[in-house]
Amino acid sequence: MNQPEQKSLHDPDLAGLREILVADGVNPCHARALWGALHREGISDLSLKSFAPPLRRWVDRSVGEGKAYFLEAPELVEEIRSDDGLTRKFLLRLRDGQTIETVLMGYAGRHTVCVSTQAGCAMGCVFCATGQGGYVRHLRPGEIVAQVLHARRVLSEIAPGRRLRNLVLMGMGEPLHNYESVMLALSSISDPGGISIGPSRIAISTVGVVPAILRLAEESRPYNLAVSLHGSTQEERAALVPVAKRWPLESLIEACREYGKITGKRIFFEWTLIAGKNDSPETATRLAGLLEGIDAHINLIPLNPTGGYSGVESDGGTGEQFQEILLAAGFPCTFRQRRGIDVAAGCGMLKAGR
Ligand code: SAH
Ligand code: SF4
Repeated sequence: MNQPEQKSLHDPDLAGLREILVADGVNPCHARALWGALHREGISDLSLKSFAPPLRRWVDRSVGEGKAYFLEAPELVEEIRSDDGLTRKFLLRLRDGQTIETVLMGYAGRHTVCVSTQAGCAMGCVFCATGQGGYVRHLRPGEIVAQVLHARRVLSEIAPGRRLRNLVLMGMGEPLHNYESVMLALSSISDPGGISIGPSRIAISTVGVVPAILRLAEESRPYNLAVSLHGSTQEERAALVPVAKRWPLESLIEACREYGKITGKRIFFEWTLIAGKNDSPETATRLAGLLEGIDAHINLIPLNPTGGYSGVESDGGTGEQFQEILLAAGFPCTFRQRRGIDVAAGCGMLKAGR
């Protein structure tokens, strides 16, 4: 007889964990203790933990090799530190052998973890190493949560007492292509009894999956939204971001307007500056016109080098002029601090050694 497939105990959120216990005849009042051990303490071996007897019996019966549930424990294949010591990139191997990358970044007084949401990515942006490698599969919620737990463990070793406060979904993959798993993972990660990264300190970055942007608004998801724009006309954008053919610029901007109206939240727009492609003063002026009426913050990212793309970053003067036009039009506009370029941990450089 086939064994039923093992499930990850890090996949469900707190409500899901309660349901699991109830289905197995255990009082759901024990869910919080188990949740705290998994998410707040980040315990990787439940046999060392003292639990009330009914929960202890359930854990002994249900968790471990050959049993119904396993604990998510991606294997650290490699850790690379940037020369300035502020960025660490982790190459993690999942149970099926797939590898993903997670990045821990230190800024003055705060730490941010950048996690992957898919192995590979189906969106094919021409300047992105993940896109150049193609799509492999969605990550499960537990695989997303485990990246944060790993980064937090490392942070507690290198800076005891420091809390991991910020999370960006800007690693490998398109978060809104893996909507259900990402939302479940964020519900777990932001739970005050668990990892407890506040929703206002979580940013979802999307290439512009229009229906999913509207869904975020309709479901009142409390996270920040960043939209990767990169082009001010359909043609300019589609040359860099092929999925613009599926969700054209006009409908994307319309969805952003709608999102702003429903949520009242500011939207962050990411713009990778590429010499001669999207960095002219005309483009900046057109962009300001496009975003008129939207509460927008524009984040400029100098292009990072990747093997599969020959474009180069804009020179400093051109970038600054671009920024000034947007500022003069009344938009907050900043350059993203560059991090981890020497260890290929910068934006768009993640490819997990594939
Ligand atoms: N899939 C999501 C999130 C991951 S990419 C998205 O596309 O938004 C995070 C950011 O890095 C995106 O804004 C993306 O456009 C940008 N990026 C990708 N490749 C880059 C590169 N080579 N240089 C600079 N930024 C890049
Ligand atoms: Fe995917 Fe984002 Fe890279 Fe585009 S930029 S290929 S959406 S990870």
